[in-house]
Amino acid sequence: MPLAVGVIGARGRMGTATCTAVEDDAELELVARVGRGDPRDGLVEAGARVAVDFTTPTAVLDNVRWCLERGLHVVVGTTGLSDRDLERIEGWTRPGAHAVVAPNFAIGAALMMSFAAQAAPHFERAEVVERHHERKLDAPSGTALRTAALMNDSRGAGWGETAGEERLPGSRGGDAGGVRVHSLRLPGSVAHQEVVLGGPGETLTIRHDSTDRSSFMPGVLLAIKSVEARPGLTVGLAPLLGLPDR
Ligand code: NAP
Repeated sequence: MPLAVGVIGARGRMGTATCTAVEDDAELELVARVGRGDPRDGLVEAGARVAVDFTTPTAVLDNVRWCLERGLHVVVGTTGLSDRDLERIEGWTRPGAHAVVAPNFAIGAALMMSFAAQAAPHFERAEVVERHHERKLDAPSGTALRTAALMNDSRGAGWGETAGEERLPGSRGGDAGGVRVHSLRLPGSVAHQEVVLGGPGETLTIRHDSTDRSSFMPGVLLAIKSVEARPGLTVGLAPLLGLPDR
């Protein structure tokens, strides 16, 4: 019997792509589409076992809590969640109501983050340059923040200090635990990131580009199919792919 799935934010860019991907997967059945203003009860009435949220940073937490309290598993792709938000989501999970939260469902992005964490102990400094479409609501991207956090964890020690005056405020980017993060917002972009690490006489650049929203769908489908078997909260795609998760 196919797994019953509902999508919240179903009329948005990611929500629309998710509905199509679920409909095209023989192991899944799309039973509810919830847009802004639609009653969420439709998820329960339609018998959804997993709810996928692609909404906005202001709507997502309330949706997640609502679903978990009603015994639905949740897969969250909406970005802009803080560590405190993740703690709250973990606290709302219960037996039979698990959560997978990933700021980036592209398989290549999960690998990029894993490679960056692997490289972090071997270089003196690192910076992240991320580029997204101009309508993105949060900056820096959840992917950039998670990349920096994974690199900082893996490195353990701090990074080299940067000398020099910042003559234009913000020109050195945001400071994510010593990793400088630069956010570009440009039409013609989907989701792109470069991690540049520097050491004596060498740089290492790790780059990932999502050129189409279809890049996120294999990861979204994997999360939908995996969430039932993962009690509590799972953050990121890495554990679902068997990649090291620090
Ligand atoms: P979008 O096109 O603006 O879609 C968001 C949708 O959510 C809109 O249709 C919006 O409705 C709807 N919405 C807002 N509040 C709602 C609520 N309370 N209940 C139900 N629906 C609600 O944005 P998007 O490009 O799809 O991105 C959505 C989120 O996914 C963003 O946070 C983005 O950063 C993230 N994202 C994640 C990944 C990943 O791999 N994890 C990849 C790409 C994007 P209205 O239009 O009526 O406001």
